[in-house]
Amino acid sequence: MSLNDTLTQINNDSSALPSSGEIKLSDGETEEQEQEQEQSEEQIQYHSPVPKKEPWYKKLSGVPLNTRPASPYTLNPPIDSDGLSWPSLGARERLESNVNEVDSREQRIASAVKTILTELGEDPDREGLLETPERYARAMLFFTKGYEENIKDVIKRAVFEEDHDEMVIVKDIEIYSLCEHHLVPFFGKCHIAYIPNKKVLGLSKLARLAEMYSRRFQVQERLTKQIAIALSEILQPRGVAVVIEATHMCMVSRGVQKSGAKTTTSCMLGCFRSHQKTREEFLTLLGRN
Ligand SMILES: [Zn+2]
Repeated sequence: MSLNDTLTQINNDSSALPSSGEIKLSDGETEEQEQEQEQSEEQIQYHSPVPKKEPWYKKLSGVPLNTRPASPYTLNPPIDSDGLSWPSLGARERLESNVNEVDSREQRIASAVKTILTELGEDPDREGLLETPERYARAMLFFTKGYEENIKDVIKRAVFEEDHDEMVIVKDIEIYSLCEHHLVPFFGKCHIAYIPNKKVLGLSKLARLAEMYSRRFQVQERLTKQIAIALSEILQPRGVAVVIEATHMCMVSRGVQKSGAKTTTSCMLGCFRSHQKTREEFLTLLGRN
């Protein structure tokens, strides 16, 4: 698929979203309509939290619908033509910037951080904070470096023909990501398994895949699904299973403050979904059964 096709697809997807006034919330709607609405609801919540009494769809005008859709794994293929694997205007600009643009991007982030520091009651000119805005900008660019990676570079030539049809598991891949709702870290372990269908992927690439998707703003559910779907598209295996166990700073250090709480998400595709035995074998090998 060419870039143009991808963009057309996004635009088509956007235009398929209901505009204000056309929403019917009756029971008689089709599954497709319901799905569509769920997606738009997510999108609205993502862009601007809606005050309680105002219907969400009134906020629809003014929301840039042709940017990244709320549900990438349903609206867009995880692997697209240019490899960005979830196109968004900001990611493209970032990827294509030259040295000067990178520099001024860093400066813009830094000055925004200075504002935050001041608003929080600090003196950004005191010695300890002098370099902090620039340092933070560089750190953030690192934490989100997954936006600059594309799947083709990550995988390169690491897909091999192999007559192996037993389960392959890589356990305990460390992941560090950022919660897109609070912009604070969540981190933990990712376990990836698949059952090959004549093709295998270099083992380290499984970790690279997890790294690429986790170094972006994420929700854990989507991260799990993106890794699984990407692997499934790369190898066309008989099945894929991805489990992520993570600690969310927004949960343990604010809000409910449950410091021991971990969140587990999983995505099972192919025979992991259809065969209970396969799923059980996987969970046993993970030590979870
Ligand atoms: Zn959060």
